[in-house]
Amino acid sequence: MAPERPDLRVRAREARDARTQAQARRVRRTVLRRDGMRSEVQDADGRSRWLLNFCGNDYLGLASHFKVSGALQDAAALHGAGSGGSHLVSGHHALHEALEREIADWLQVPAALLFGNGFTANLAVVQGLLGESDACVQDRLNHASLIDAARLSGCRLRRYPHGDAQGALRQLRTLPDGAALVATDGVFSMDGDVAPLRELSIICRVQQALLYVDDAHGVGVLGPDGRGSVAEARLDVAAVPLQLVTLGKALGGCGAVLAGDADLIGHLAETARPYVYTTALPPAVAGAALAAVRIARQEHWRRERVAALVQRFRARAAKRGLDLMSSDTPIQPLRCGDNARALAMSRAVDAAGFWVAAIRPPTVPEGQARLRVTLSAAHADADVDALVDAIAAARDVHAPAQDSPAVPAP
Ligand SMILES: *Cc1c(COP(=O)(O)O)cnc(C)c1O
Repeated sequence: MAPERPDLRVRAREARDARTQAQARRVRRTVLRRDGMRSEVQDADGRSRWLLNFCGNDYLGLASHFKVSGALQDAAALHGAGSGGSHLVSGHHALHEALEREIADWLQVPAALLFGNGFTANLAVVQGLLGESDACVQDRLNHASLIDAARLSGCRLRRYPHGDAQGALRQLRTLPDGAALVATDGVFSMDGDVAPLRELSIICRVQQALLYVDDAHGVGVLGPDGRGSVAEARLDVAAVPLQLVTLGKALGGCGAVLAGDADLIGHLAETARPYVYTTALPPAVAGAALAAVRIARQEHWRRERVAALVQRFRARAAKRGLDLMSSDTPIQPLRCGDNARALAMSRAVDAAGFWVAAIRPPTVPEGQARLRVTLSAAHADADVDALVDAIAAARDVHAPAQDSPAVPAP
């Protein structure tokens, strides 16, 4: 007799209907052209228009810098469109090597290893270092790739309350056997706040755990010479043996570089499956990243500019009574509460010419939907002022839903 299995197509349709009910559908919007921070976008209905982008991660304005795209074109002309192989077989190119060296030099660490993206790099770190008898202790708001990395490794995953280093210590104490890795975002991607890295480093030392900082949103923006949240906390490679630089955020390109201890990185380069069994990035992409890193290291005005815009945004938003979160980074979320309100506000600022995506569960916890505003050195003061006006107007039209009582009425 044939088994009665669930039909995956039916399941997918039901899940989609449930998302529709919860105002949690996610639709892609197509970018037709870009001009600085302005994007011409096309929606599913075919309508297209120009919007000012306030929800990307191009914090330093490098994604469309002429020297970065010029480096991409020059390297593609010389070396072609693809690498043609994995790093350990035939795909490792001098531009990959040069990029790794540049980032190791920038962050003042002995070694660096280039990956196709940050998601894969996180899988490689956790899977390459931990096994079933080991523990991975993580902040509750860590990026999804770190959570999935721990699951893939088969280790014991424990989470602590957001930003709570003492919570990390408690978790480590419950798992005294086996190796331990404490993994945290440096800057939290949906909240914009910075992890308590100094406190975590002390706890890791006492507990003989290894501290891993995913600094996707910190490198380029924070710290001396833009070296990120680890350098800003004045921690060295002994305190933070591994950190992740992603190339797709402040550096405006694509890829990720793991930086830190030479023995650990050498081990991952030979054994981590997400590193070994994948095609190396196109050399031209590494060439573009190399150009971007050099600009990020040298042009301090970009960091100063985006920091000034953060202050301007916060001051103006506070004056208008907007619900800011405690962040000093270019990630400036505004709380909206439920999904419907976040979507309505996003649509209202959209109608005023601004692109600010509504971030909803499961990307953020239930009931914490938000407009995740991000700022860039490429924005103008007047852009920020107009955005705050548009958000304040949207807030006035779309009042928060009445809080549902904690105890249902009898
Ligand atoms: C974006 C991001 C990643 C993934 O990096 P990609 O290069 O985009 O795959 C990992 N960690 C954090 C904290 C991120 O924000």
